[in-house]
Amino acid sequence: MKLDAKVPGGPLAEKWSGFKEHQRLINPANKAKYHVIVVGTGLAGGSAAASLAELGYKVSSFCFQDSPRRAHSIAAQGGINAAKNYRNDGDSVHRLFYDTIKGGDFRSREANVHRLAEVSVNIIDQCVAQGVPFAREYGGLLDTRSFGGAQLQRTFYCRGQTGQQLLLGAYQALARQIALGSVKMYPRCEMLDLVVIDGRARGIVTRHLETGKIESFTADAVVLATGGYGNVFFLSTNAIGCNVSATYRAYKRGAAFANPCYTQIHPTCIPVAGDHQSKLTLMSESLRNDGRVWVPKSAGDAGKHPNEIPEGARDYYLERKYPSYGNLAPRDIASRASKEACDEGRGVGPGGRGVYLDFGAAITKQGRAKIEEKYGNLFEMYERITAESGYDRPMRIYPAVHYTMGGLWVNYELMSNVPGLFVIGEANFSDHGANRLGASALMQGLADGYFVLPYTITHWLAGEKAGVTPLDHAEFKRTEAEATEKIKKLLAVKGKKTATEFHRELGHVMWNDVGMARSKQSLETAISRIQALRHEFWQTVNVPGTDADLNTALERANRVSDFLEFGELLARDALVREESCGGHFRVEHQTPDGEAKRDDAHFCHVAAWEYAGPDKTPIRNEEPLGFEEVKLTERSYK
Ligand SMILES: Cc1cc2nc3c(=O)[nH]c(=O)nc-3n(C[C@H](O)[C@H](O)[C@H](O)COP(=O)(O)OP(=O)(O)OC[C@H]3O[C@@H](n4cnc5c(N)ncnc54)[C@H](O)[C@@H]3O)c2cc1C
Repeated sequence: MKLDAKVPGGPLAEKWSGFKEHQRLINPANKAKYHVIVVGTGLAGGSAAASLAELGYKVSSFCFQDSPRRAHSIAAQGGINAAKNYRNDGDSVHRLFYDTIKGGDFRSREANVHRLAEVSVNIIDQCVAQGVPFAREYGGLLDTRSFGGAQLQRTFYCRGQTGQQLLLGAYQALARQIALGSVKMYPRCEMLDLVVIDGRARGIVTRHLETGKIESFTADAVVLATGGYGNVFFLSTNAIGCNVSATYRAYKRGAAFANPCYTQIHPTCIPVAGDHQSKLTLMSESLRNDGRVWVPKSAGDAGKHPNEIPEGARDYYLERKYPSYGNLAPRDIASRASKEACDEGRGVGPGGRGVYLDFGAAITKQGRAKIEEKYGNLFEMYERITAESGYDRPMRIYPAVHYTMGGLWVNYELMSNVPGLFVIGEANFSDHGANRLGASALMQGLADGYFVLPYTITHWLAGEKAGVTPLDHAEFKRTEAEATEKIKKLLAVKGKKTATEFHRELGHVMWNDVGMARSKQSLETAISRIQALRHEFWQTVNVPGTDADLNTALERANRVSDFLEFGELLARDALVREESCGGHFRVEHQTPDGEAKRDDAHFCHVAAWEYAGPDKTPIRNEEPLGFEEVKLTERSYK
């Protein structure tokens, strides 16, 4: 497989402007001759579909929810980064670029990250113009706060509802284009497969979730903005519907899957409460601006009420271990430190799998009203779920799966190795390396959709003759038939176990053996257990109902069947990557004080997996990572 990253020449800071100055263009009248499919209406897909339609392309937009504005992006809480330097605290494009590269443990493509930092400043202006109600200071300037892995305040926010407000902005722009007739919206339509003809993406096959109708759509280019795959772990902070199906099916049609083992475990989530739980809740990282993380110094105190543990008996372990960043150490590092404290028997709450996030000092200093003003809705959410007040006693938190840095491989132009297939937002692998910094996913989604793809897709389409493939082409018919056959096969098993039971079992394997700490042995065990589970699934899964109407059990079973294949790919990637970096922690590769130990000599590359056929070992390809501007160092937050 040829992986040409297509990074433009010239100095790093001039690559993106150079690209835009020399890119091919399409005249306004001709743009309407090109038809683009955008799958996904979160921040990435919503902003892309609206921008492409505004430029004049004919756009079809798909999502599986009943409305585009219910995409998972709506759940984002804490904020969005931008190098605006409104605080005058020393921020710059270069600093945001450097923090992101270092935060990703030097495993991302330098040129992409620099471009992201450059366009970050435009995003805020765009969103303000749309009316997004960012928090403001008394004087009227936009307010900012800190997120992990940065020593300054560059995170713009709308209380704890940043994703919701940004998505409403993108949705308004999309709705305008729907009303103008330049976007045709297909809600409740799930993409089941990608249609590739003569090596080029030509369309998609979908299933309408209310009628069961399986249909094909044809286009000049297909954009996947279908989000991340964190739900392969079953319990995660992601919305229940988040899945890997669209990207995994594209992988099976030839698109390379990059770094699937890079998953992010977020340190501040509400701990698991029992076996019947179906999802986990995030407590935004923004809370670590004022909340202090601690456990008792002595395991003997772990069972006591927190208010009975005196100051001197508390271990503020992040402040102790990482004095320069303290409670705002990056997520991978903070999560591992929590696990370590709990493994030592100092964890609190049921099962000892929890640490405290304490606002006592902040309330004393700033007053309860101020804390309420900053984080009120998050405290309310915590209380509704745990029946405890975070104002009266410290919150209990524990790490949980949250985000996936891996995704379909894309070049600098955000096109996969399948010509005509573009991938944006969390669905691609491009910008965050082995660990994403907080508030950088919203930044990437909107950068891709508003400011990068509109240029790069134009450049590519300008080199292609406009004109879609007719839907009666044999390849459309064949792909549709295969998708239909899979649905029928799922319904025909008529076993005894639900898809959710299989999903939960897969999640146990993934969390225990492929989770926060991975070893050769645990990964080999996971691979064989996943293979066995997959085999059992196809013998004994029970999918009730029919394929002719709304059938959520069928939707779930179809997605779980993909997770059961993809989980193995993720574990395999983790097994081959014999180093620790960012969120990928191999216990065999750690420094004497327990930090991730990279092996730049052998693993300074992107691993891009190529599908080799059913039950065949996939092929691992490499894109070497070169660094012009940044010197690779041991990542330290001490
Ligand atoms: C609780 C929570 C809080 C977060 N807070 C922050 C934050 O404060 N700051 C930050 O930067 N990041 C945050 N993140 C991460 C961020 O929200 C996501 O990474 C980002 O919103 C992903 O956007 P997206 O557009 O790529 O995908 P999504 O928003 O996940 O959208 C995916 C879209 O694809 C569609 N789709 C998927 N599969 C198919 C299919 N097969 N067929 C048709 N349609 C399909 C869906 O319908 C949906 O429209 C948070 C994440 C979580 C879980």
